[in-house]
Amino acid sequence: MKTLAAVAVSKGDPLVIQDLTLDETRSDEVRVRLVASGVCHTDAIVRDQVYPTPLPAVLGHEGAGIVEAIGDAVTGVEVGDHVVLSFPSCGVCSSCVSGHPSYCLDLQALAFGGARSDGSTAFSDEDGSAVSSHFFGQSSFATVTNVFKRSVVKISKDVPLEIMGPLGCGIQTGAGAVLNVLKPEAGSSIVIFGTGAVGMSALLAAVIANCTTIIAVDIVPSRLERAKELGATHTINSKDEDAVERVREITGGGANYAADTTGNATVFAQMTKALGTMGHGALVGAAAPGTESPFDIGSLLLTGIKISTVIEGDAVPQTFIPKLISLYEAGLFPFDKLVKKYEFADINTAFADSESGDTLKPVVVF
Ligand code: NAD
Ligand code: ZN
Repeated sequence: MKTLAAVAVSKGDPLVIQDLTLDETRSDEVRVRLVASGVCHTDAIVRDQVYPTPLPAVLGHEGAGIVEAIGDAVTGVEVGDHVVLSFPSCGVCSSCVSGHPSYCLDLQALAFGGARSDGSTAFSDEDGSAVSSHFFGQSSFATVTNVFKRSVVKISKDVPLEIMGPLGCGIQTGAGAVLNVLKPEAGSSIVIFGTGAVGMSALLAAVIANCTTIIAVDIVPSRLERAKELGATHTINSKDEDAVERVREITGGGANYAADTTGNATVFAQMTKALGTMGHGALVGAAAPGTESPFDIGSLLLTGIKISTVIEGDAVPQTFIPKLISLYEAGLFPFDKLVKKYEFADINTAFADSESGDTLKPVVVF
């Protein structure tokens, strides 16, 4: 069947909207008619080939849509169900069976390999040449796509499907880093470096967890303003101020918890120094493989701090996303305030507005 897709054709270039052919839905797949898809920073770094998914490729990994067909090995969803699409996992490795599918031993291949395990891709162009598919198990920048069954999360039909896609990656990532990994106790302090969609989701989660000191650090003044509106008690523009010194001053010696959502080596080092004694920090931002950051093993030894690297908020999407939706419905998790909608045809503007800092979480609507 035909599908209209935004194709990453060559490294760093804008996506090109093209008609492609979508192949048969396999037994372990779900065919989804997309209603909308979020745009995440990770799509941009794969378009730019920081992570090497073979191009041409259909990217997109925050899909929301309606089930159109299911393979015979798929259970738990039916045609017509509303679904959010999340990251893939194998379901049988030690991480998956212990309830931590984001550390699936096969995640790299399943998310970034651009093909099924037999090497086939779901998409082909008009010459019949293969176009990489199954990005994060889904490739959601297409009107219709074949999705690995473990990427599919059934959600309620009572919520606006158009804005739900980002729960599948960016929002789950930030919120999960706080609620599933850091687990701050009520009354504690937290500093969040980077106030993009991931950092803001971490911030909203810190509000849910009743952190009473919530410090947002960024270099874009408009984002810091938004952070205040969403619940930050303090903001720091680290271009103008020494973030470590300010955090230590505000918290009286260092924050209990921290998250780095920038993927910047200098910021990671700042996070290690902004933590107080026995603080716990989460590395969430994605940097190119090979990126190293200084870690002062001399001074930090005495502090008892803990650093976790966190993928996808250490979430089980099929349970965590419905929880985030119920928090949203209760008015406790207003992630819709992060979202701005774009026509599918304007997908490159959506990427540009995210990169410039104008839009927190772009969503393209089909
Ligand atoms: P984003 O680009 O919208 O946000 C990043 C923010 O960091 C921006 O507001 C930017 O101004 C700020 N920043 C950049 N350099 C800074 C500096 N030196 N000091 C202070 N602030 C700085 O991106 P996003 O969508 O929020 O994603 C954040 C990161 O998380 C990206 O690297 C993305 O690839 C990654 N990510 C990781 C996972 C995961 O599973 N770990 C999942 C999704 C996204
Ligand atoms: Zn993502």
